[in-house]
Amino acid sequence: MKLYTHVSQLNKVGTVLEKRLKRLGIETVEDMVNYFPFRYEDYSQMNKIKDLIEGQDVTVQGKIELISTKRSPRKRKLVTEAIVTDDTGQLRIVWFGQPYISKTLKVGDMVSFSGKVKTDMFGMQMVSPSYEKVKGDGGTHTARIVPMYPLTSGITHKQMRFLMKQAMKAVDDVSDWVPDPIRDDADIMGLSEALHAIHFPESQEELLHAQRRLKFDELFLLQLRAELVRRSIRRSDAPQIPFHEKETKKFVASLSFELTKDQKVSAWKILQDMEGDSPMNRLLEGDVGSGKTVVAALALYNASLSGHQAVMMAPTEILAKQHFESLKGLLGDNVNIVLLTGSEIGNWKLEIGENTKKARREKVKDFIRSGDAQVIVGTHALLTDNVEFKNLGLVIIDEQHRFGVEQRKTIREKSGDAATMPHFLSMTATPIPRSFALALYGDLDISIIKQMPAGRKPIQTRVVEPKHRSKAYTFIHDQVTLGRQVFVICPLIEENENEKKSVMNEYEKLSKDVFPDLKIDFLHGKMKVADKDETMKKFAAGDTDILVSTSVVEVGVDIPNATVMMIEGAERFGLAQLHQFRGRVGRSDHQSYCFLFTDSDSDKAHERLGLFESTTDGFELAEHDLKLRGPGDVYGTTQSGNMHLKMANLSDHELIELVQRIARDVDFDLFPSLFEKVQAWEESIHLE
Ligand code: ADP
Ligand code: MG
Repeated sequence: MKLYTHVSQLNKVGTVLEKRLKRLGIETVEDMVNYFPFRYEDYSQMNKIKDLIEGQDVTVQGKIELISTKRSPRKRKLVTEAIVTDDTGQLRIVWFGQPYISKTLKVGDMVSFSGKVKTDMFGMQMVSPSYEKVKGDGGTHTARIVPMYPLTSGITHKQMRFLMKQAMKAVDDVSDWVPDPIRDDADIMGLSEALHAIHFPESQEELLHAQRRLKFDELFLLQLRAELVRRSIRRSDAPQIPFHEKETKKFVASLSFELTKDQKVSAWKILQDMEGDSPMNRLLEGDVGSGKTVVAALALYNASLSGHQAVMMAPTEILAKQHFESLKGLLGDNVNIVLLTGSEIGNWKLEIGENTKKARREKVKDFIRSGDAQVIVGTHALLTDNVEFKNLGLVIIDEQHRFGVEQRKTIREKSGDAATMPHFLSMTATPIPRSFALALYGDLDISIIKQMPAGRKPIQTRVVEPKHRSKAYTFIHDQVTLGRQVFVICPLIEENENEKKSVMNEYEKLSKDVFPDLKIDFLHGKMKVADKDETMKKFAAGDTDILVSTSVVEVGVDIPNATVMMIEGAERFGLAQLHQFRGRVGRSDHQSYCFLFTDSDSDKAHERLGLFESTTDGFELAEHDLKLRGPGDVYGTTQSGNMHLKMANLSDHELIELVQRIARDVDFDLFPSLFEKVQAWEESIHLE
């Protein structure tokens, strides 16, 4: 038997079973051995009959003294009963509806039974245990740690184990793709040994070692792939952008606030990266309001001081606009900044002087092409639009975790200097725990701003019970009277519901019944971009008191005067997302509030919302969300779905750090098998 042997060649596999196995993705022996148990039952401890205790899972070995099948008088079910003895006592065993057992097992057979012990009026008994005739080889279904596989209908655990036992014969042929020196370094078991042990472990300890080895494989592959990307970026040339100390110090001194330590450290790392001759590839993580923009501004400023153009991209027009405004405030005295999005342009100091929209747009592009525009703020439209940059040295992208290979290529082609690749910085407000970030973004260097600027008042968060709703409304009204503004977030909409309708209903209710005297506006995804922008503009200018919205306000918008975030149907949102909403307020020295409304009476929902109430630490919330919902739900499937983890998970901190360390030092020339494995793996992912 070989790994490539088809399962139909295995003993007792006919066409029906073959089809069922195929449903589990098992077609070859290799598929088979890579189909891992999802749990185990430990029957490795043999028990003596006299020591049995009710309720325990046990394995007993004994001789069949008596066995027969009868029809039960009351329930009219077939009952098979056996009496079994060992050298300490006797035990009754009962099966229901399995009459064939009395044909399989005969008086005098030595059999082991695994299952739960019960007592009834006749004393100790086992009901429907798994059983196996005792042979020399230690057993497959009993008297050991027994593997339990995820099954499809029509396949039993017993069948699966029977087949797996056969497939194990091919496991010794598995060649270990991890070279010896690395295996030694990582202190992991050999692959074929691990495959044996994951299915039929001799002990709990051996099982742990096998699991560790197989987890290592998954995480290591992921990390090696990231490492290959990292190194290919390393090999590119980047424009070296020196640190302009004098100007930078002057800029920092001119700020109305003192930079936090984390901001200083991150900025320092970024500026150091930019001095290098290979492109920066860094992720700047910082909770909402932690002050990433000013760190970005320092990088943009240094690029422009060296005569390099720099770009800052945002996911939406509203955000791009806001960055444009912030950067004008921060850098406007020293740098020419333009804004270019799908529908909007903006300029600072540069005279456009054209009349039609189209001509003005072209003029802005001219500024970019000529290099007169030193900093360009825009959306991703910058990549698709026929924009040509001049001597592009730095690209910053907000609210995206990483640059795709395609994006890099496009940017490079437009950079105005094909010989070099610009420096890249991604920024995100999604708090990603470090171990997760390492596993997911092994190709990136990571800086984290954990510390909030001094003087921020923590946002007060309350889950509001339905009966206190009117109190909350009164409170909101008072805040508006004080001159503050309010966000109202409508519940997350199910696929077939109408988002617009939900927003409009809430808007009607608030403007007609609850706050007829206040100025209320609405925002939803179906609106035209220009209308959305207009609405945001009015809200930002303070012309609107309350903005009713879907989750479109989730990221980035900065309205310092907004102090209340009210979230309807709060249980429908993930904690990380709620945290993003909450980050829309508390951006000034006014005390801010977050009210969560829910009609749910599920304990789980209340527990989650309770946790949200008790902490403003985005990282803690993200960790919790990860445990509860998995990375796909927390960070979106596109970012975590490509991880292909079966065994490992993101709480394997120690292993993640280990593979990260090892991958960084790997010599791919010395170990070509590693490179081949990554390639084969990528191909298999592509085929899926
Ligand atoms: P985010 O990280 O969410 O993008 P911003 O960069 O928008 O945060 O900063 C939020 C607000 O905090 C801005 O108004 C900014 O001027 C202010 N800010 C940034 N850094 C500091 C600091 N060190 N001290 C006080 N305020 C700061
Ligand atoms: Mg921001």
